[in-house]
Amino acid sequence: MQVLKKYRNPELIKPMLNEISELSQKLDEELKLMEVCGTHTMAISKYGLRSLLPKNIKLLSGPGCPVCVTSQQEIDEMIALSKMPEVIVTTFGDMIKVPGSNSSLEKEKSRGADIRIVYSPLAAVEIAKENPEKIVVFLAVGFETTIPVIAAALEEAIEEGIDNFKLFVAHKLIPPALEALLNDNEVKIDGLICPGHVSIMIGSKAYEEVVNRYDLPAIVAGFEPLDILDGVKGALKQKVEAQVEVEDKVKAKVENRYGRVVKDEGNQIAQDLIRRLYQVVDTAWRGIGIIPNSGLELRDEYAEYEIRNVIDLDVGDSNEPQGCSCGEILKGIKLPYDCQLFGDVCNPQHPVGPCMVSSEGSCAAYYKYDRR
Ligand code: SF4
Repeated sequence: MQVLKKYRNPELIKPMLNEISELSQKLDEELKLMEVCGTHTMAISKYGLRSLLPKNIKLLSGPGCPVCVTSQQEIDEMIALSKMPEVIVTTFGDMIKVPGSNSSLEKEKSRGADIRIVYSPLAAVEIAKENPEKIVVFLAVGFETTIPVIAAALEEAIEEGIDNFKLFVAHKLIPPALEALLNDNEVKIDGLICPGHVSIMIGSKAYEEVVNRYDLPAIVAGFEPLDILDGVKGALKQKVEAQVEVEDKVKAKVENRYGRVVKDEGNQIAQDLIRRLYQVVDTAWRGIGIIPNSGLELRDEYAEYEIRNVIDLDVGDSNEPQGCSCGEILKGIKLPYDCQLFGDVCNPQHPVGPCMVSSEGSCAAYYKYDRR
C-alpha cells in the first residue's frame, strides 16, 4: 500500500495535470482515448479523472469487461446448462446476475438449480472431486488475464483423472477486438489506453501490429490515478508531436508506462500454457459480432473437456435486452448516460444489461461514481 500511495499523491498528480493541460492547448482537434479494461473504467470513474481533464480530451470505455462482451447466445446456453439436473454450474460471481433472453443464472438458482459461485477455478475442480456422480462445469469467461488460471485448473483435473470436470469456454482475446473496433467506421478513437492486467500476460509488444496498421498511440498503463494520467499524457504527447508538418512524420508507437509489472514480451509461461491447451477461433462479441481469431477453443486432444461437446445446448434465437445500449457502449459510440434506461429502469439492483451487472461494467461504474 505504501508503494501505491505515491501513485495517488496529489503533489504528483497536480503537476501531471498541468502538463496535460499545457499539451492539450496544442491539440488541433479533440482527442478521444479508449480504455480497454474494466478496471481502468472503474478507476477513472472512482477518482473522477474525466472531470479533471481538459475539455478537448475524452476518455471512452471499450470492450474491456469480459462479462459484458459475452454474447447473449453464450449466456442463454449457460442458463440452459444450469437447468440440467445432472449438472453443477460453477462460476465467478459477476456472471450470475447477467440477464439472458428469458432468465438468468440467479433466477435459475432460486428455482433450485445447483449453481455455485467460486473464487478460483481450482475450487470448481474440488467440487467435481466431491461430486463424482455429477458433471461440474466451470464457466470459463475472461480475457488473457484469467485464461492461464483456468487452463492450469484444467491441467490439474486432467492429471488427477477428474473426468466429470468440464469447461464452458467463452474466452475472448483483446488484440483482435481492437483491430475490429478500429476497422469500424462508426468508431472514432485517436488512441488506446491498453489494459494493464491483460498486458502482463501478452506483453506490450502484442499491440505493435495494431498501432503500426492504424497509426495511433497505444499506452500500457497501470490502475492508479497517476498511472492513468501518465497514460493520457503519453498518448497526448504523441498526438501533438504527430501534428507537426515535417517530411519524416512521427509514427505512433506503443509505450509501456506500466513497466513495474508489464514486460515487453509478457508472461511466456502463461502464453505457452494457453497454446498447449487451446487453439484460436472466431467468436462473437456482444455489440460487435463475430471477430476473426478473437476466441479460443480447446485443442482436439482436450475436446472432451468442453461441455458443449458432451451436451447439446440448442437454445434457438437469443435476444439482447430491449432498449439496452451495451453493444454501442462497448464500442465507445455511446456513453451510459445515453441509454434511456440508465439509472431509473436499469440499476445495480435491477440490471437490464451486463454493463450494469459487472463490477467492471461501464454502466455500473458511471452509476456508482459518475451519476449526473
Ligand atoms: S444502462 Fe442498463 S440497459 Fe442501458 S446500456 Fe447500461 S446495462 Fe444496458
